[in-house]
Amino acid sequence: MQSLFQRPLSEHSVPDGVKLYYAPVDPYLIYGCEAIVNVDKGLAVLEDVQLSFLRRLTSLPKNSIKAPLHTETGIHPLAHRRLQISLGQAKDAMTQPPTHYAKRAFLDSIELYRIHKTGWVADIEKALNSLPIDPVLFDITNVESEKAIQDLIDRVRVSCARHLYQGLETSRLPLLHGYDRGLIPDDFDSVLKLRKYFKTVTAPAHRKALTRLLFANHTLAVEQFRRVKKADGRKFETNERPCRSCGDPTETEVHALFVCDGSDRVDGFKETVDSTRCKVDPIISIHFILEHDDLAPVFAKFLYDVFEIFTG
Ligand SMILES: [Zn+2]
Repeated sequence: MQSLFQRPLSEHSVPDGVKLYYAPVDPYLIYGCEAIVNVDKGLAVLEDVQLSFLRRLTSLPKNSIKAPLHTETGIHPLAHRRLQISLGQAKDAMTQPPTHYAKRAFLDSIELYRIHKTGWVADIEKALNSLPIDPVLFDITNVESEKAIQDLIDRVRVSCARHLYQGLETSRLPLLHGYDRGLIPDDFDSVLKLRKYFKTVTAPAHRKALTRLLFANHTLAVEQFRRVKKADGRKFETNERPCRSCGDPTETEVHALFVCDGSDRVDGFKETVDSTRCKVDPIISIHFILEHDDLAPVFAKFLYDVFEIFTG
């Protein structure tokens, strides 16, 4: 029998994959961040490793959108995670007695910052200013007490949540918009979480179909026509991405699942749920289904069958 570490990553459930990430992978990616704050291109190398892991775990290609890889698995982006650990080290140093080496080194770094010299605190400021979408403004009072440093850590968590929340607000991810799912933009624990559907949908093929739908890696025309241009270089407008089954101007996710005659060929799911409600309010209905222990696996099976019809 193969051990957890010998099986290909895509064969693991996502919850098991998250455990694997925090066991042998994460320690390498955060190694040394207590002492070294990333202010150069080294962070990008580590981020590539993390994204590669998450895409293999969720069976997604290299060009998949980054934000849902974090928001749906609960795995933190490295820039924010490493910075929080660095600040945790600063907070720990601040609690030490004045003669402790860590406290003395930290106070020296604060003094260097005050006289505009490079050092650990200056690197912290640079890293905070480099956070994507919502940089954290810094002044030296933010590291002069244990409470102030904790406030700074909390602001990094809020910055992380806002960054990822905004990353979901693209037209390519109509089923993951935060507002529709009740996510709170400033709430780290609301935006980043291992989602329930990864626990309830256990059949690997069905889970992949669900991930393809939610993460915009499906074969439906609305997504496939984004990736090509017309002969004259112009893009295909939304109403120029027709349904292959019924000729509707746009083959969207909701159309393929709940509106199109093509999906009527799939048995099982529509008898289980209120199809009328799904047509009237499809996105809210999908999120209700994904939170339901029994409906989520049936829905994922339905998706698998629908994608067999709307194949690439
Ligand atoms: Zn159709």
